[in-house]
Amino acid sequence: MDADVSPETWVVLAGRAEHAGAPLNIPITPASNFLLGADRSYSRSDSTPGWEALEAIVGGLEGGEAVGFASGMAAAAAVLRTQRDGARILLPTDCYQGVAGLVDDGVAHRGWSCTRLDVADTAAWTAAMAHADVTWLESPTNPLLDVADLPTLGAAPRKPGSLLVVDNTLATPLNQRPLDLGADVVMHAATKFMGGHSDLLAGVAVARDADLVAQLRRARTLGGGTPGALEAFLAVRGLRTLAVRLAACQRSAAVIAERLEAHAGVARVRYPGLATSPSHTVASRFMRGFGAVISFEVETAEHADRLCAALRVVHHATSFGGVESTIERRAANEGQEHLPQGLLRLSIGCEHAEDIWADLETAIDASAGG
Ligand SMILES: *Cc1c(COP(=O)(O)O)cnc(C)c1O
Repeated sequence: MDADVSPETWVVLAGRAEHAGAPLNIPITPASNFLLGADRSYSRSDSTPGWEALEAIVGGLEGGEAVGFASGMAAAAAVLRTQRDGARILLPTDCYQGVAGLVDDGVAHRGWSCTRLDVADTAAWTAAMAHADVTWLESPTNPLLDVADLPTLGAAPRKPGSLLVVDNTLATPLNQRPLDLGADVVMHAATKFMGGHSDLLAGVAVARDADLVAQLRRARTLGGGTPGALEAFLAVRGLRTLAVRLAACQRSAAVIAERLEAHAGVARVRYPGLATSPSHTVASRFMRGFGAVISFEVETAEHADRLCAALRVVHHATSFGGVESTIERRAANEGQEHLPQGLLRLSIGCEHAEDIWADLETAIDASAGG
């Protein structure tokens, strides 16, 4: 990133053409091929200006070189493609189920081994990292919002040639920059906060090491998980307002987490910004903000389902990071049965906090009992 501008300014400035007469915004480039004789011939291997704008913005935010992908999973797959047969992978007990599925496939078909560790158990990670080929962290985790001690893990000794990967989707680079803390690769589902409008799938992987960046680009060229032209444009459009959206959503999330915690109908609230959260002390040491996703528990699955059905402002929908608040009972999903049955993941959007709270309070009360 340009040393003299803040990330809030960078997301607005970066990735624009600078020559006189250029459009202020990067045009949508629906191109597979280009007239021969210059640097670009075929987009899958040579990029488009739209992907490059996305990569310039995210690379600057994370402090590395970014490679854009068709989705968060395409980015994750490209990172894991660097691994040989027999690789040893460390993965959080609670993490994005798609990434866990990808690693499970490697265990089934490529002789990988996978050890799942509680992301908050720093001692367990540092002991295991000495022998692991990939240390895959997600912090805060989705959906339990546990926090890894990234500064300690980033500095811990690890197997030479191994990769420390951080899925930074929930935090965003505005709240933490894992490459600064010692990570080799950062990945994002730009589908979530970066895009911010629930209207696209996109992913990004960011690294500093030139050889690693080349491997990620090669994985994209050969794997074919390239960003779509419209999606790259929309992701750039979303990134322009990332800082103001996230600031507003985090402000509301702090208010709503506290009110949920004080509500008699709520059994437990998980949000690293809450002073009572087990992850608050660790998170406060290095995170600039605590994000806009809150998980909370009501007593039963039935209560949680009735609650979701009673909401009018908050949308009953999966995913998170959009301008619209969304809520979902995660244990209702295949592969997520280990989660508390009454756990609801709530993504705070850009609506007024008082409207979100009034909706939640009414729905919690109306859905209790029975
Ligand atoms: C959504 C998500 C992904 C996958 O992203 P897609 O764009 O859906 O492929 C990966 N990691 C985390 C933490 C996510 O929330």
